[in-house]
Order: sequence, then structure tokens, then C-alpha cells
Amino acid sequence: MIAPDGSIRAIFGKPLGTRVDAHGWIKTRRDSKGIHFIQLNDGSSFQDLQVVIEAGAVPEAALAQATTGACVRVSGELIASPGAGQSVELKASDLRVFGPADPATYPLQKKGHTMEFLREIAHLRVRSNTFGAVFRVRNALSFAIHKFFQERGFVYVNTPLITTSDAEGAGAMFRVTTLDPGKPANDADDFFGRPAYLAVSGQLEAEIFALAFTNVYTFGPTFRAENSNTPRHLAEFWMIEPEMAFCDLDGNRRLAEEFLKYIIAYVLDHCRPDLEFFNKRIDNTVLATLEHVAASAFEHVTYTEAVALLEKSGRNWEFPVHWGSDLQSEHERYLTEEVFRKPVIVTDYPAEIKAFYMRLNEDGKTVRAMDVLAPRIGEIIGGSQREERYDMLLEKIRAKGLPEEHYNWYLDLRSYGSAPHSGFGLGLERMMMYLTGMKNIRDVIPFPRTPGSADF
Ligand code: ATP
Ligand code: MN
Repeated sequence: MIAPDGSIRAIFGKPLGTRVDAHGWIKTRRDSKGIHFIQLNDGSSFQDLQVVIEAGAVPEAALAQATTGACVRVSGELIASPGAGQSVELKASDLRVFGPADPATYPLQKKGHTMEFLREIAHLRVRSNTFGAVFRVRNALSFAIHKFFQERGFVYVNTPLITTSDAEGAGAMFRVTTLDPGKPANDADDFFGRPAYLAVSGQLEAEIFALAFTNVYTFGPTFRAENSNTPRHLAEFWMIEPEMAFCDLDGNRRLAEEFLKYIIAYVLDHCRPDLEFFNKRIDNTVLATLEHVAASAFEHVTYTEAVALLEKSGRNWEFPVHWGSDLQSEHERYLTEEVFRKPVIVTDYPAEIKAFYMRLNEDGKTVRAMDVLAPRIGEIIGGSQREERYDMLLEKIRAKGLPEEHYNWYLDLRSYGSAPHSGFGLGLERMMMYLTGMKNIRDVIPFPRTPGSADF
């Protein structure tokens, strides 16, 4: 019934005089003497198709039901639009209503709903301007991520969502169990014979694949049971984790920079009207920041240099800085927004504040870690060169008090054909916040899962 090229986006590309069938949902309707205007949207473009209905042109019964929220098909001819804001409009000769929407109860009637209210109607918010733009950008971003890696010969790998090792301690984990919570039981009686969890990262398994396919990446869901009700944390989010053999921290840094610029440029090229909307209605620095980031060479400082800069800033930090302390959001934003005014990659952090798998430097105190900091958001990517030396890794696992028996296979990778390798992780929703200027991470994922909330 609906040709794939029959979208409103495709209709905008057709010459004046073409007869078309347009399908979609009515955003708004305006009536004046003997003429009706309908803004029609089918999600294919930010821009609505304006439909003009002259008196008597379409069946009266259908016209009566063609109110905000209704799903309709309009047939007619594309004509030049005298109105501002669009170059063509559709002059209707027929109208059919697939699904009416009662104007008395349809929740998206008026403009200016709060984000909180829209979250409660996640089944309908996708039809609004804001969420239309958000999810078109999310689609383009996901495609750009695959395109970037595929063009460079990276192999896409699916790492497990259910795991029995508590990985790297990246965050609190959700237990996966078939045991009856009401009855006392042994872990050994559980489905997997021992406690199992939802994965907080796919990195360790991605390393297995990098040591066979050289360059790989993951792109999948990740779960963290962190009971932190912040605008930047979800219990279920999507993560991208490239992992490269024969790659040191410098190579990792270069790839992260190239990657961020590529995906930003792709979205700038393919989602202009959506980004212009965010720039106008959500955050008026979005476009300028993205264009600046896509064009500037990233800065590079070591953690030690970064701490020196923060110490001599003369600021009154909420979290005081000294060598050995982790950088907080306020420090990260100061470096990227005020000192360098562009993205900064900070490397070589103290071993104590970073994960066990990061490669120890010659100084014996710092590890080959890197964080990419970006204006307006702070840390956007975290990564490292991995410890590829068996003895060093074992020592670190012991020093951090991790259960050695859980890391047998991970250590094996260092016994059999080990190689220098590196990788990083990017949270898809954090990137989405960066691209759109949306302030709450719950508004850049279709169905947010947060403490106390898993609707839809
Ligand atoms: P944060 O300090 O912000 O909690 P993290 O240090 O726990 O982040 P990593 O373990 O390095 O983050 O995870 C890799 C990436 O995943 C982060 O850079 C971030 O983009 C994203 N991320 C981490 N936790 C969450 C979360 N709860 N919700 C959404 N994205 C997240
Ligand atoms: Mn965290």
C-alpha cells in the first residue's frame, strides 16, 4: 500500500505538479474561511508537509475526523507554497482517515509540554518535534558509527549480555537468576550453576576477538545497577567499544579523535534541520560547538600536566585537586572549556584510580589510560592501552584483590600469542546528549530505565 519512496521526505524532492499520496500523523490543523491547513508528518523529515484543503475538495466526514494526532492519507497535487517556511504544499483532492484521535483526550494537543510529562507518554512523545529530531539523529549516529569502523575493516563483534564474572568492577551489576527470591537457595542451584549478572562492558571479550581479528568493535546494550539518579546515568544504555591489536596509546588517541570528528561531521551533514531545531530550541551552542570540534585538532596533556594546570588555576574547587586524585566533572570542564577551548585528551593517569587491565608505564606509578574531554560535557570517551604482559597483569589482579580464578581466560590471552593492544569506550547516549544539547539522558533513549522506572 505504501511505496518505500512515498515518504514525506521523498515528496519534498518531487517537482511541482506531481500527484502524490502522503501518509502521516496530523501535527496541527488550522481552519479559516473555506480553507483548512494541516501540518502532516510521517517521521521521515523534520519539516512537516503543509496540506491545503479547499471547501468541498474532500469528503466532509473525513475532514471532520482530521484533527491533531489523527493518522491520514492525503492525495493531491504538489503546488508552490505562497506561505513562509515551506516551498511546496499539497493541494488535497482526497482525504482518508486511517485512525482518528479524540481531540478531547489526545495528550499532544498543545505545545510546551515539559520533558517530564513527555517521558510519561513515551508511546506518543516520538511524534513530537523534539523526539522526532532526537531519534532521527540517533539513527544517523548509529549508522555513522558502523560506517566509520566498517570503512576501516573493523569486525563487528557481539559480546555477551549475561556474564558470570564481575568484569572490571565498572559499576554495580544486576543479578540474573531463576531462583525464587522468596526461598533460601544455594548459588549452585541457580540457572548457570553460579551467580550471573548483566554485563557492564564488553571490553574483556572484545580483547579475545582483537587477538584474532586485529581490529574489532562492539556496539550493544550495557547494564549498570548504579542507584544514581543523575541526568547522565541510565541503568540500560548502549556502548561502543573498539579494540585494536598492534596499537599503542598514541594510535588509540588518534583513532578516538578521528572517530569523534567523523561521527559529528556525518550528523552535521545528514541531520541539518534536526540540529538547527536543537540549536534554536534546546541549546544555542550546539551547532557552533559541533562545527568547532569537527574542525579543531584535539589537545593532548598528561594527567600530571593537567593537575599542574588545575592547581595553578586559582579556583576554589568543590573537589580539591592534588596528584593522585581523580578528575571531577568541574576539573574536566575547566580544562576543555576554559584552558584549551577544544577537546582535550588526558593520558597517563595514576594506576590507583584506574582499572586493573591498563598498561603500567615505566615510571611504575602511572598507566596508559586516556580520557577524551569535550566542551559542555566533560568526559566523553575513556580508554587505554591494555596490559599485555602476563606477570604484570597477574600482579595487578592480586594487588587489586580481584578473584584470580575469574580471570583465567583473560590471563591465557597473555600466555598464548599476546600482543600490544588498545581500545576505548563511548556511551551512545552521552554522545547523543552532546549532539543534541538535550539535558537529560532519559530523553535521548527511546525507553529509559532508571531507578524506580522501567515503563513501556
Ligand atoms: P561515569 O563516571 O560518568 O559514571 P564511568 O567512568 O562509569 O562513567 P566507563 O566505565 O568508562 O564510565 O564507561 C564507558 C562510557 O559509558 C562512559 O564514558 C560513558 O560515556 C558511558 N556510561 C557509563 N556509565 C553510564 C550510565 N550509567 N549511563 C549511560 N552512559 C554511561
Ligand atoms: Mn560510572
